[in-house]
Order: sequence, then structure tokens, then C-alpha cells
Amino acid sequence: MKKVYLFAEGNKNMINLLGGKGGNLSEMKSIGLPIPEGIIISTEACKEYYKNERVLSTELKKEILEQIDKLEKLTGKSFEGEHPLLVSVRSGAPVSMPGMMDTILNLGMNDETAKKMIEIFKDEDFVYDLYFRFIQMFSEIVMGVEKELFFKLREKLKGRLSNLELINKAKIMYWEETGEFFPESAKEQLFMAINSIFKSWENERAKVYRRINRIDDSMGTAVVIQEMVFGNLNEKSGTGVAFTRNPSTGEKNIFGEYLLKAQGEDIVAGIRTPEAIERLREELPDIYEEFVKIACILEKHNKDMQDIEFTIEDGKLFLLQTRNGKRSPYAAIKIAVDMVKEGLLTKEEAIMKVDPAVLPQLLHGNFEPAALKNATLLGKGLAGSAGVAIGRVVFASERVHTKEMTILVREETSPEDIKGISLAQGIVTVKGGATSHGAVVARGMGKCCVTGCGDIKIDDIRREMTINGYTVKEGEFISISGYTGEIYLGKVGLTKPQFDDNLKEFVSWCKEIKRLGIRMNADTVTDAQLGKGFGAEGIGLCRTEHMFFQKDKIWTIRGMILSHDTDEVARALEKMHQLQREDFYNIFKVVENDVVIVRLLDPPLHEFLPKEQKDKEKMAEILGVSLEEIERRVRNLKDENPMLGHRGCRLAVTRPELYNVQARAIIEAGIQCKREGLDVKPEIMIPLIIGAKELLFIKKNLITEIEKVFEEQGMRIDYKLGTMMETPRACLLADEIGAEVDFFSFGTNDLTQTTMGLSRDDSVKFMPEYYENGILKVEPFATIDERGVGKLVKLAVELGRKNPHIEMGVCGEHGGDPKSIEFFEQVGLDYVSCSPFRVLVAIVAAAQSHI
Ligand code: PEP
Ligand code: MG
Repeated sequence: MKKVYLFAEGNKNMINLLGGKGGNLSEMKSIGLPIPEGIIISTEACKEYYKNERVLSTELKKEILEQIDKLEKLTGKSFEGEHPLLVSVRSGAPVSMPGMMDTILNLGMNDETAKKMIEIFKDEDFVYDLYFRFIQMFSEIVMGVEKELFFKLREKLKGRLSNLELINKAKIMYWEETGEFFPESAKEQLFMAINSIFKSWENERAKVYRRINRIDDSMGTAVVIQEMVFGNLNEKSGTGVAFTRNPSTGEKNIFGEYLLKAQGEDIVAGIRTPEAIERLREELPDIYEEFVKIACILEKHNKDMQDIEFTIEDGKLFLLQTRNGKRSPYAAIKIAVDMVKEGLLTKEEAIMKVDPAVLPQLLHGNFEPAALKNATLLGKGLAGSAGVAIGRVVFASERVHTKEMTILVREETSPEDIKGISLAQGIVTVKGGATSHGAVVARGMGKCCVTGCGDIKIDDIRREMTINGYTVKEGEFISISGYTGEIYLGKVGLTKPQFDDNLKEFVSWCKEIKRLGIRMNADTVTDAQLGKGFGAEGIGLCRTEHMFFQKDKIWTIRGMILSHDTDEVARALEKMHQLQREDFYNIFKVVENDVVIVRLLDPPLHEFLPKEQKDKEKMAEILGVSLEEIERRVRNLKDENPMLGHRGCRLAVTRPELYNVQARAIIEAGIQCKREGLDVKPEIMIPLIIGAKELLFIKKNLITEIEKVFEEQGMRIDYKLGTMMETPRACLLADEIGAEVDFFSFGTNDLTQTTMGLSRDDSVKFMPEYYENGILKVEPFATIDERGVGKLVKLAVELGRKNPHIEMGVCGEHGGDPKSIEFFEQVGLDYVSCSPFRVLVAIVAAAQSHI
């Protein structure tokens, strides 16, 4: 099978084989755009390389050389010939992984080639600059020599040595660092470069990037080998990166940066701070015009906002790459909506372009104008990625932890920072423009980012920074705005999340198209209001034990659990009854005519029992018993394994009065609402069941109590009774259980825990090794384990549907995860329920999975 292609042999439908870069370059070639010639080594060759114990096979080498031969003919240049061919060698996976893999420029350079090029270009400084850059990049990427060594060498010897002497020093450094001579033969250089690019697919930063972005490890990377054009040739040369629309705001105008007399890496690496693209209109007006024209063609052709790399060589424009641009969540929505209005996309196509996972950021609002007035402005950088963030300053990625809200402040970000960026709330860099690596990665992750804030001086030893006269130590709070680039001291107040008109319109399209119902997990009036505002269609899970987390209510449930004699129990029950009735009434009022599923108590007891001495004392006082007695009762109730202990409906089997009083409170609150004209639809849900007999036992008690309430009140309301599916046994016996209930709600948090035998609380400690060693691909508590847990869900759905009236949904964390939602759509659930901040994600993901 063919493994090496000329650009002319490919197109963008071959991206899996040729990588994004290769496929798009081929496509651009086919529509007649100015692209330097090149060849692509396919991802199949990369896969074969790994099968072949990381060795380039003889056949592959032969095929590469045959295609290089053709490239030489096409360009009229050749390796080591009179007109030397220099090439760039770049990785290009089927999905974009910006900055994650490697690029080598000016390959083919050696002493002889340099001489010939000096004759052609008549510019020794230029040629030796190319040569030096090549040695540095080759050393870094192929042999792992630190680039700083070369920069320092150049700094130290600049002006003191001739160009050739400097090159020789660089080669000596290569020899000292690697123990090998610098390869002179272009073909040897090429094979070594290809080898290292294939190898880079498995480097640590690429692996982390793939894991975070859920990219399949097995797809491999292609290698693009392309004739060099020289942006550093003269004043009429340069290099740039531009987007067809503003990637931060979505505005429809060319947005980008360029540097004259520079090579591509200078911009992407954020080493020199570039000029805004508008200036090119003044400096090289014809090139600017041509670029704008091409940008429009590319956007129309690819039906998406483009991120374009270009080089100008001596007044002639070349394109080096185009891809769909990464953008802030805000821009993603605006661009999607605008493109539908411009007739470029259908609604369905526009919906598919938005990554739902980054949407929660839109809901975090902006700084409050009043709070901003009083805030201390420390300085200003560039608006790298929209959003605002508040956190403690941290100067090193390895010190960013999940537990703390942090802002990572770095001189410039490198791909090694990927983990820190993913964990931090926001990112600030001292160097680099809005298209530098840090900004691109942050935008892709939906993180707020400020770049190029040159006023910051970081002192790594003292772990502090100074900025315009202020000193901020690691651990102190700052607030940053990715909309304006501003950095403030301390915590600045935030506005409430807001839906702008574009988002409203976009969500309305998703709602028209989706099939799955979207409900929220909400236990308080505030959450319910929030989720409703985001578009939730009722409550899919109200965790009643959480209702006791507020204010002093915890004492009611503690009292209930720790009460012993009948008087104590009766008092505690009555208190609980009153509190719950009021809570339910308030929630029903917010949700109005939509469904509310109330999950009866499921408190893992260890979360509710008093632990501290002062709490035990208070409990003793409330119940009127001695401290020793409370301690004894706490000891008796302690589970060795609380998550599999006396929780869920086990409580109702041992103490039926608990659920009865809750059912009473729900129905009474419902009747009160009905009297006030609301059409409430309470649904009562029993957690953690293991079989139909257990369910029937509880159901009988509940129905008896509910009938009593109807009689007392002289009024009936409609209600439903259902159960959570959270244990493998319940799923296996779903037909028996389904015959007894109106609905199932899969509690996939517990179902994952009980099916996999992995603790929800403890597994974080050992799971990282599971991902690193490829044992598991994704976090099973975040994305449903389709093969195992999912199989049980599927089976339970099939068995449960024997009751034709049954309704089924999911309310574990997976209900707000796009990949899991796709699965729930496929198995035919009726709704998903998730936390209010995920509602938007769920609506978009539900629409996407139905398209
Ligand atoms: C579940 O287990 O998925 C669930 C929603 O219940 P909880 O998280 O409250 O155990
Ligand atoms: Mg559960």
C-alpha cells in the first residue's frame, strides 16, 4: 500500500491518512492557491513504524526517496544540488494538536549547500542564520538538546566570530551534547527527522494532550515535508498567522499577527512579539489584499473559521497551512450563528461545529462594573482567550492543583505546561502574542487567558512577581480578564451568568432539533432558578439529603438519625416533615408546571454523623441525652464501608417512617401548589434498590401514607413513583422492577462504582496509572464506560421497556457529559439530568447526538 503522497495526490477527505496539515495543503493545492510543493508520509506509515519496533523500514525509505525525487523535479531544486532544496519537516495528526508535536525547518542544510545558497542569495548572514536555526532545531527535536544552549552560544559569540565559525561552534556543541557528529547528508538528516517526528507521537506532552482532548492514541501522525520559502530573506519577506474571524470575540474581520524578516517558528513560539495584521496593509499592501482574498476563499471552501499560516518571500505570498481555528466559547457561538445567517452553514452544520464541553465557561459571566471601579489594576496584556478568572497566583505548572483556584503565570508557556493549563482557572504569560501556543491551547480548553503582559517580572526563586510597582507573591489572589487583557489584584466580583442573544438563538436551534429531554439536578431554589434560566425542562434529581446541608438544617437530619426512643423520633420526624414540606413547596413554585423528581433520602451516614467534639456536645444538648450516649450511638451507626453500607433505601427498610414522612411532605406541598393553581408533577424516586421485593416493600408503605394524605386533605394530585437504577442486580432484574414503577433513572455514579467495584471517593488515587498504561481510556466516573456499565444500562432499558409506559433517564454526572449523552441517545433514554451549569452542554450535546 502506498505510504508517501505528493500534495497533488491528496485532498481534504484524506485527513485520516494524510493528517490535517497534509490533507489541507493538498486541498489548497487543488484549488489553485500558492502552496510550496511537498510530500506527505501517511499515518499508516506511522502505525507501521510502531509495529516495526520504531524503525523506518527499508521499503518506506525507498518510497520516500522516490517521492523526494519527484519533489526535486517539481521544484527544480535538489538536495545538495546546484539549486539546493531545503525543506521543512512537520508532524500533522488527523486532529489538530497545536504546539504538541515537532517541526524542523531548513532541513537539507550543510556546508556545501550553504556555499551554494550564498552564491544564489548573495547574503551570507541570511544563509548562516538558516543554518544555525537548522542545527538548533534538529538538535532539540531529534536529539533532545536544550534550545537555550544554542541561544546562549549565539548571544555570547555574536560579533566575535565569523558566521562559519559560529556554525562550527554549534556543531561542536552538538557533538558534546550527543556524542555524535552532526549529520551532513540531507537524506540522513531527513530520515533522522522523520524518525523523531514519528517518535514524538508518543512523547509525554502529546499523550497528555490526547488524554485531555480524548484523542485516539492509535491514529498516529503524518509527516509533511515541504519546500522551504524564506520569511527571513529580506525586508519584503515575513511570516504570519491569521484567523479569518477574531478567535476571541468572533467578530468578522481578519485577525492575526506577522513579523517581517522572520521564520514561522518565531511567531508560534512567542519569542518575538509580532505586529497586528492591519499594519501589513500599510507595509505590503498588495500582499495584504491578496491574503484577505485567499482567506475568504478558504473560509467559504472549508465552511469554517480558518487559522492560516503564511510566509512572504521577497514580496511573494505563500500559504503553509490552514485549519479550522480554535476559538473561545463565546466566539464559537457567535461564528456559528453568523455563518447560518450568512448562508454559509445550515443550522445542523452550525450546531456540529460547537464543542459543548467548553460552554460552561460562557456561564461564568464577567467582572461586575462596580467592583471593577474599586479594583486595583496591576497591568494589562493581550486578550488571549475570552472569559474571566479568579485564583491564587502560581508560577510553575507542577504546583497547580485541582483543589485550589489558581492562575498560572508564566514567562511564556511551553507544551510542557499543558497539564498546569488544564487545571488552572486562568493563564497569564509575559511574552507571546494572541496566537502563541499558550493562547491557542487555553482557547481550545475554554480557559481565560491573558498573553504578552511584558510589565510582569517573575522572580522564580522568591516565588513572586512585580508588575508596575506592585509585588504579588505566589498564593495571593489575582483576577484576570481574557476579554480585555486586564489583571487585577485580589478577587474582583463577578456578574451573574448571562445569555446573550446569539447564545439564546443557538440554544433555541438545539432545542428544536434534540430528542432527549434535558432536566437538572437541583436541590435548592437557587439552583433550580439557575438551571431553569439555562433551559432545563424540570428537575430530574432533587437529592433530599442535600437539602439539609443548608444553614442549621443538618441538625434535623442528625437528630433524626441519632434518635432512639419514640418521643425523640417523633419530635425529629415532625421537624423534618415541616422543613421538607416548605422546601418542596418552594422548589415546586420555581419549576412551575414542569416535572420535579424528588429522590428520597440517600445519606451515606458518615457524611451526616457529628465528628467533632463540639458537634457531638451540641447534638447531646438538642436530644437531651448525655455526651457518652451520643458517642455510643455514633459508634453503633458507623459503617466500615459507608458507600456500600446503611444508605439509600436500606434506610427505609430499617426505618420506613423516614421515607413516609418525606412522601407526606411532597404530596402536601403538591396539594398546596395545586390549590394555588399550579399543575405540579411530583415524582417520587427510591434510590439504590437491589430488587423488586425490596421496592415493593417500600412502595406499599409509601402508597399507604400518600393515600392517608389525600384523605386528610380531601384532594388528590397526580404523582409518579419510580426508582434509581444504581446496582448491577437492579439492572439485571429490570423487567421485574420495571413492572412496578412509572420510571427508571440511572444513577450512573453509583452504578459505575458498583459495577466496576471502584470507589467513587478513592479511585482518583490510583486511576492515573490506569490511563498512563492504557488500561482505561477515559475516567469512568466522568464518561460512561460503554463496554461495561453501558452494557448494563442497555440491558436494563430493554428489560424495563416491557412496561410500555415506563419513562427512563439518567441523573449521574454522566448526564452532563457529551460523549455519554451520545450513548444515552443511542440506547433510547428519554431524558438526561445534570447540574445547572451543565444544562447548556447537555442541550447542545443532545442536539448533536440526534443530528
Ligand atoms: C448516582 O449515583 O448516579 C446518583 C445520581 O446519586 P448520588 O450521586 O447522589 O449517589
Ligand atoms: Mg447514587
